[in-house]
Amino acid sequence: MSFISDANIALGALDNYLHESKLGEHPVIAQRSIETIVRDLDLAALISEGGLTGDRLRVFLDNYLATTTRLHHPAYMAHQVAIPHFAGALGALVDGFTNNAMAIYEMGPGASSIEYFLINWLLDKTGWKPAPLRPSEITPGCGGGVLTHGGSLANLTALVAARNKAVPDAWENGVPGNLALFAPDGCHYSISRSAGVLGIGRNSIVALEVDLNGVIVPDKLPAALARARDAGKRPVALVANACSTAVGRYDPLHEIGPFCREHDLWLHVDGAHGASALLSAKHRHLLRGIELADSLTWDAHKLLRTPTLCAALLVRDHRTLDSAFEHEASYLFHEKVQPGFDFIHRTFECTKSGLGLKFFLVVAAAGEQALADYIDRQHDLAQQAYDYIGSQHDFECPVEPESNILCFRLAGGSDARQLAIRDRLTVDGRFYISSTSFNGIRYLRLALMNPDTGIGEITSLIDTIREIRSGLDAG
Ligand SMILES: *Cc1c(COP(=O)(O)O)cnc(C)c1O
Repeated sequence: MSFISDANIALGALDNYLHESKLGEHPVIAQRSIETIVRDLDLAALISEGGLTGDRLRVFLDNYLATTTRLHHPAYMAHQVAIPHFAGALGALVDGFTNNAMAIYEMGPGASSIEYFLINWLLDKTGWKPAPLRPSEITPGCGGGVLTHGGSLANLTALVAARNKAVPDAWENGVPGNLALFAPDGCHYSISRSAGVLGIGRNSIVALEVDLNGVIVPDKLPAALARARDAGKRPVALVANACSTAVGRYDPLHEIGPFCREHDLWLHVDGAHGASALLSAKHRHLLRGIELADSLTWDAHKLLRTPTLCAALLVRDHRTLDSAFEHEASYLFHEKVQPGFDFIHRTFECTKSGLGLKFFLVVAAAGEQALADYIDRQHDLAQQAYDYIGSQHDFECPVEPESNILCFRLAGGSDARQLAIRDRLTVDGRFYISSTSFNGIRYLRLALMNPDTGIGEITSLIDTIREIRSGLDAG
């Protein structure tokens, strides 16, 4: 057993996997049952015997890879998960190997520096002031941020900071019963979960009025805020989508931002999926006004080709995040002379992986411009798909896409019919798409993440759906 020979086995298996997936030689999805997989992979015997290495490892990895859902397959159009750039996967390997749990600088100076650098890079793209490389020189005008294990945790962290600002003694005394959070119904479920976790309570979420695209109507904000304040509510934050998960539309930040500033209301922008448009000269206008927000969630493991998980939480004023958490663990939190920065003050997590490395390696391998081009390409593809599907007499699209997400449905079909189509497609395995509910109606949904997906896959998908429909009609 040696690292290099097993590593070569793993790399060989992955290389083969990449090529066969890209060629579409296997189903994009093929779900066997847990029972079958546990048995076929021989899991019980392998852990009792140990020594999974060499040729046995090769066989195991091939069998394992055969159980995967193939994101590199051009017919993968289901979820908002990056088709990872291989450089990011190598970063994950290096990070796993070195295991520099870098929440405190001394446990990963390189990883911390890269995270610090990337946060600054993202702050700059957002229009917020990056922090000086000497943390002792950070001033109140500087932004801040942290990489978290996912956008959901980034959203929670943002709302912890917002709650702290609204209720400065919340850590000591808990929260009063009259807090309110403003958000459109179509916000990600991690927002309502956060409201629950923070003791704000889901029933204290004020649903903001939206238009037919599910986008916040700014003209309705003053009345919503006045109603809440008249009812004795204490607003914690307003959450806007950039873009929404279901249909990929952006809330008008250039109108929401000034309103929130004027009323001293924390604006959190959930850009888990769509903040990456900030890299694109063509699409960054979708986030016009973002600089007026207080915090922004931005996932690298969605549109920035980075393996899961890697998300950024950014704040306009670093102080709001630096004071968001209580500092208790004396073995970690104490004054010390050090040449770097401890991220542990900015995150719920204690042991924290060096998430920045895989993200950095992707950006450095591809280059910023190639990532921007990729984003433009996927947006254009969604527009092409919309034009094509919308022009078919037997399909309809509820919303014109602004991102790389597209919803559609069989015209005149029931919700159950859309779900039946997706179930059959998933079993068939030639295409993998998702489904969502929007304005109370069930849709089929494409998240066009794969740079190898083209309009050809979309026209074939529509043909396949028609085949399935005929089969269902025939009974
Ligand atoms: C995906 C998504 C999230 C959740 O992010 P994770 O990284 O999956 O935890 C939150 N908000 C929006 C708008 C999203 O699209």
